[in-house]
Amino acid sequence: MLIDADPPAMAQSCKDCRHRARPGHAEPGYCAMRIDTPHAYGPGHPLHLLPEDGGASCEHFEEWT
Ligand code: SF4
Repeated sequence: MLIDADPPAMAQSCKDCRHRARPGHAEPGYCAMRIDTPHAYGPGHPLHLLPEDGGASCEHFEEWT
């Protein structure tokens, strides 16, 4: 007898987050929310590099709806 298992939970990712910014369609893009990662284009720039874990443990993740 087969038992239906729940599908594995999808890990959250910057790619699904509304705070990811992609000026000029840049890949993988930048974060417009976090300030604890390096600035994208130098001091004072509002965008920051995405975290090394791709957002998997980010507390600011917000999925596009
Ligand atoms: S770092 Fe966090 S807030 Fe920024 S794009 Fe990734 S998941 Fe979203």
